Amino acid sequence: MIIKPRVKNFICTTAHPDGCRQNVYEQIQYVKSQPQTKTKKRTLVIGCSTGYGLSSRICAAWGDDAPTIGVCFERPASGNRTATAGWYNTAAFEEFAKEDGIYAKTICGDAYSKEIKDETAKLISQDLGQIDLLVYSLAAPRRQMPDGTVYTSVLKTVDETFTSKSLDLGKNILTEKTVEPATPEEVEATVRVMGGEDWKDWVKALKEKGLLSENFRTVAYSYIGPEMTYPIYNDGTIGQAKKDLYNTAVEMEKEGVSAYVSVNKAVVTQSSSAIPVVPLYMSILYKVMKEKGLHEDTIQQMSRLWNGGLIEGEPKTDIPGRIRLDDWEMRPDVQGEVQEYWDKLTDENLKEYADIDGYWEEFYHLFGFSFDHVDYEADTEAEREIPSISK
Ligand code: NAD
Repeated sequence: MIIKPRVKNFICTTAHPDGCRQNVYEQIQYVKSQPQTKTKKRTLVIGCSTGYGLSSRICAAWGDDAPTIGVCFERPASGNRTATAGWYNTAAFEEFAKEDGIYAKTICGDAYSKEIKDETAKLISQDLGQIDLLVYSLAAPRRQMPDGTVYTSVLKTVDETFTSKSLDLGKNILTEKTVEPATPEEVEATVRVMGGEDWKDWVKALKEKGLLSENFRTVAYSYIGPEMTYPIYNDGTIGQAKKDLYNTAVEMEKEGVSAYVSVNKAVVTQSSSAIPVVPLYMSILYKVMKEKGLHEDTIQQMSRLWNGGLIEGEPKTDIPGRIRLDDWEMRPDVQGEVQEYWDKLTDENLKEYADIDGYWEEFYHLFGFSFDHVDYEADTEAEREIPSISK
C-alpha cells in the first residue's frame, strides 16, 4: 500500500509504518549518544506507544538497559486502514529491542480496566518478578469505571469564558478561539480521567501482589505552562486533573511509595495538538527556543529525566516537590520573547514570529511522515506485528 497522510483538524487518520520505525530508530540513536545509567531498573510504562511514554520506554531500554513492559491502547491495520502510529512505534520498538537483546513485552488494552491491570501483574510476576519503576504517561479522552460508568474529559475553562488568539490548523492562519467554562460534572469527569486516581490504583494493585521492589519509584507527567494559557490549561479542567495528580503523589509518598510528578515541556503530541490555543503558543515557543538553541522534543526531555536522578540518586525538585523539566521553557528570557512575539502576531507576519513549519513537521513525524530517509512513494506493508502481542 502507498500511504499518504490524511489530516483532519488536529489528527492524522493514517500512519506510515516505515516512518514510525524511523522515528523510533532516531530516538534510540539519540539515547545511545547520551550518558547512560545502565542500572537495568525493571520498568513498566503505562501509555508507552507515543509521545512522552514512548520516549520514556526508549530511555529505559537503551539508556538504562532495562527490561520493559509497556501498556498502550492502539489498533492494528485492517483492510485498507493503516494501524495507528502507536502500534507501528511499538512494533519497531520491540524489533529494535530484540536486535539488541533487550527484553520488551507490550500489553494492548484499556489501562483503566481491572483486566489489563491483572494481565500486566501476571506478566510482571512471570517474567520480571518485580518492577523498580512505573512510568504513568497516559493521555486519554475517557475512562470506563468497573460499574460501566464512562467519564469523558473536556478541555475547557473552569469559571469564565476565555477568548484568545489561536491557530486555525486547517488554513494556517490566525483565528480567535472562545472556550466556554465546564460544568462541575465536566470538571469532575476530567479529574477522574486525567487525575491521579488510576495511577494510584496501578501502584496499589501491583503492591498488593508484592510486585514492587524495595527501591520502587513511580513518576507521572504534568504540565503548567505560562500565564497566557492558564485559563485553558493550568486553571482549566486539565489543570484541575494535574493538581489531583500532584496531590496523589503526595498521598502516595505519605504511604511510603516514592512518587514523583515531572512537569515537562510543551511538545507536539497527539494529545497536545487537541488543546485549544496551545498549538499557537507551541509554534511561538518552538521559534524562540530554536533561536536560543534550547529546543527539545520528548526524547531530549526524557533523556534529561533519566540522567537527572530519576534512576540513580535523587532528582532535583522545586518547592512543592515537582521535577521541573520545563525549566528552559519557563526561563524569563524565553517567556519574555514568547509574549513579545505573541503580541506582535498578525496573519502577515505569522511565519516570522511562529515556527508553523516546525510545528507541522513534528506533527507529521508523530504519524511517521516527513522523514528524510523514508521513501513515501514506495509500496509498503501496512500490516506489522508487535511480536509480543501477535504470538
Ligand atoms: P500521547 O497522546 O502521545 O500518548 C498517550 C499514550 O496513552 C499512548 O501510548 C496511548 O496508547 C495511551 N493510552 C491512551 N488511552 C489509553 C487507555 N485507555 N489504555 C491504555 N493506554 C492508553 O500523549 P503525551 O502528550 O505524551 O502525554 C503523556 C503525558 O504527558 C500526559 O499526562 C500529558 O498530560 C503529559 N504532558 C504532555 C505534554 C505535551 O506537551 N504533550 C507536556 C507535559 C506533560
